[in-house]
Order: sequence, then structure tokens, then C-alpha cells
Amino acid sequence: MAGFTVAIVGRPNVGKSTFFNRLLQQRKAIVDDVSGVTRDRQYGIADWNGKTFNLIDTGGFVAGSDDVFETEIRKQVKIALDEANAVIFMCDAASGITDLDESMTDLLRRTTKPVFLAINKVDNHERLLEASEFYALGFEHIFFISSMTGSGTGELLDAVAALIPDEQAAVEESTIPKIAIIGQPNVGKSSMLNALLGEERTIVSDIAGTTRDTIHTHYNLFNKEFILIDTAGIRRKTKVNEDLEFYSVIRAIRAMDEADVCMLLLDAEKGISQQDLNIYSLAVKKGKGIVLLVNKWDLIQKETNTARDYEKELKQRLAPFNDVPILFVSAKEKTRLMQGIEAALQVVENRQRKISTSDLNEVLQKAIQAYHPPVVRGMPISIKYATQLPTPVPSFAFFCNHPDDVKQSYKNYLENQLRAAFNFKGTPMRLFFRKK
Ligand code: GDP
Ligand code: GDP
Repeated sequence: MAGFTVAIVGRPNVGKSTFFNRLLQQRKAIVDDVSGVTRDRQYGIADWNGKTFNLIDTGGFVAGSDDVFETEIRKQVKIALDEANAVIFMCDAASGITDLDESMTDLLRRTTKPVFLAINKVDNHERLLEASEFYALGFEHIFFISSMTGSGTGELLDAVAALIPDEQAAVEESTIPKIAIIGQPNVGKSSMLNALLGEERTIVSDIAGTTRDTIHTHYNLFNKEFILIDTAGIRRKTKVNEDLEFYSVIRAIRAMDEADVCMLLLDAEKGISQQDLNIYSLAVKKGKGIVLLVNKWDLIQKETNTARDYEKELKQRLAPFNDVPILFVSAKEKTRLMQGIEAALQVVENRQRKISTSDLNEVLQKAIQAYHPPVVRGMPISIKYATQLPTPVPSFAFFCNHPDDVKQSYKNYLENQLRAAFNFKGTPMRLFFRKK
């Protein structure tokens, strides 16, 4: 299913990151009262009433003169309009309408994308009265919220979520496996794509991605059909390095949404960075299949155990979920690229694997006999049986007497037993515990 992306824009200190953190229920961003604190742009996945969407906080202002602000807001709005399906434009009720709010309004009026004006810091009734001046900005959708207390944020999110198509209603356009090539700038995505294009002449067609700037290419190689989704086209978007990186992350998230499996490219010389890990964990959260390709392997001085040691170290960084194929490739020398594709197709198959209830319960019973669920508050926990749910991401329901008391460590144990018994390599898995 294609993803839905919402961007938050607004001048510094209106409360964007407070709102963002509330939605993501994580406390990572720097929140500071000093206007113009430099902080990172952020992205994440938000859930609202069963609807999932990507959330971008375009933050990133730096202190400076007014004309610096002007360029910054242009940049911010451009990112939002390029990348998002809908925009939340945030203003601050405490300060009233400012010149920067008006500049942003001018930029946002030109878009056909839905814009939700959110007047933040409406913590009490007096503020609500003062905030009515914002109607003057002329937006159709206006919401009065307090990111601090959460008041009004539900209505805003309801309105945003109403734009997101139901997962069930989303029609599956094609059953051909979709593979996204993702990774940071300069890891070798274009080189890999060119190598694959050069390798084979049986390309069926180029089809437009569901969103701009992801290119879908339909392949038919050795009787295997697949669609490659590539995000290589972003370089021309921007000349500024810091922007390039942010664009590449947003684009990777979008390619991910459209894919069944992601080939995450790493640079062998640089190893895995925090940014790579962020992208990896987003793919896991989204339930996408994953294959790691360590590219530029030709540049590495190799001894007997170099690949083995490299893989071991990577797996430690990827934990807890590290049951993924890792291949050492070179786009330049065209080594093991087809193995990469084959691994990705195998992961797609693993992700679709359905286990019969009897096979599943055989494994479950053995697992329980080998290691019983730990007793909680004197109560023995008994897991009666399990069944696989009909979902795109392998999901299993375990029926037991006290579902809330099953420890995470025991859940991990069961997942590992399932992985040992059946081939789920490269695909995240979900385990649910229900009352029986
Ligand atoms: P950003 O620069 O737009 O991301 O703004 P921040 O999220 O960093 O918030 C700026 C300041 O406004 C911080 O001191 C927040 O605690 C404060 N703030 C954010 N939301 C609210 C709110 O709803 N009410 C009040 N009173 N303060 C808020
Ligand atoms: P992208 O930004 O991810 O699309 O990366 P590019 O494909 O443009 O590659 C960035 C740079 O890395 C270019 O100079 C490539 O020639 C180089 N490169 C890509 N793959 C390899 C490889 O396997 N080995 C070596 N030595 N260089 C590579």
C-alpha cells in the first residue's frame, strides 16, 4: 500500500516538535524556549485510530537575520509541498499573527494539497478568544489546539486521518514483487541500477510510480518478474548537502511504503551509521521485507574471515531483529547483484509464507515443553494454541490465560523458535497474545 505523508511547517517556537513528539510518543527532539534553536528535522510513523502515516517535522531553523528566516521558510515549505500529501501549518496563539506567518501563508496558498491550519498553545479559554484572529489568514480548515495538554489535537488528527484511504479499500495494483533500492546518498544506488539495466535487455516497461520521483521499472529476468523502485532521481532536487540527506530519508520512506521488500545499501568502507539504522528500523516498523547489501566490497582488503566478521558486527548493530540476508556486493564490478535480487525475491516469498495451524502448534508445543513461560505473581501461564492471521506481514495470535503477563523475553523466545522452524528470513513478524 502506498503511504501517506503529513508535514508540519511553521516558524520556530510555535510548538512543532512538541506536537510531533506527542504524536510519536517519544521524547527525542530538543524543546527549547529560545527562539531559533537549531534542531534536527525529524520524521517518524504516527498512528491515529488505526490509520498509519508518515510524519515529517520540517523544523531545522537556525538563528539569523530576517532574510535567513525567509530562505529557511521557503525551504521548509518546499520540502513539505514536494514530499507530503497534506500539510499542517502551525501558528502560535500566544504571539498572534506574525510577519513570518503571513509569508508562509502566501507560499501555502498556492498549493492544491490540503493545508490544516493549527493554532497551537490554545491552553485555555482566553487564548481561544484571542486565537480567532487567525481566521484572517483565510484557510478553510482551522483547528485550535494545545500540544502541551493535547486538547484539540484529536479533532485535527481526525481531519487528517479522514484523507487517508482505508488499508482494506486500497486496491492491490499488482502481485508482482516490488523491490525498493534505498540507502544514503553515494552508497551506489544509481550504479547498481545501471548495472542491472546493462545486464539484461528484457526490461518490459517503465511505469510511473504512484508518487512523483520514485521510478518503477518492470523486469523479467531468468523467468522472474519484479518491479524495482528507485529513488535515485533526488540529486537534482537540491544543491545543499544537508537538504540532500533529508530528502533522501523522506524519499527512502516513501519508496519503502510502495515496496514489499527493501534492499538497503550500505557503503562497505563507511559501515552502518545511525541514519542507516533509523531507516532500517522504520522498514521493520512498517513490516517490510529487508535485504542488506554491503556495496563497494571491491574496496575492502580481504582476509579469510573478513566477510564473516563484518556480518557478525552488522548483526550486533541490527539487533534485536537481525534475521536478514546480508550480501557483499559491488555495483562497480557487478558482483553478486543478481544474488541480491534473488535474496529479495526469496524474502518476498518468506513474507507471504502461511503456516498451517497444526504445524504451528506442533512447534509451539515443543517450544513450551523445552521452556515454560515464566510464572507471574504465582500464576502459571498457559498458552493453549496459536494461529496465523491473514495479514501481509506474518502475524500470529497466541491464545492464553493471562495474555498481559507474557514477558517480552518469552515473546522473543517464541519468535526465535518460529524462525528456527520456518523460513521467515528477512521479514519482520508480529506476535499477539489474546485471552482464551
Ligand atoms: P518548534 O520550534 O516549533 O518545534 O517549537 P517547540 O515544540 O520547540 O516549542 C517551543 C516552546 O513552546 C516550548 O517551550 C514548548 O514547551 C512550548 N509549547 C509547545 N506547545 C505548547 C502549548 O500547547 N502550550 C504552551 N503554553 N506552550 C507550548
Ligand atoms: P547513489 O547516490 O546511491 O545513487 O550512488 P552512486 O551510484 O551515484 O555512486 C556514488 C559513487 O560511488 C560513484 O562515484 C560510484 O562510481 C561509486 N560506486 C558505486 N558503487 C561502487 C562499487 O561497488 N565500488 C566502488 N569502488 N565504487 C562504487
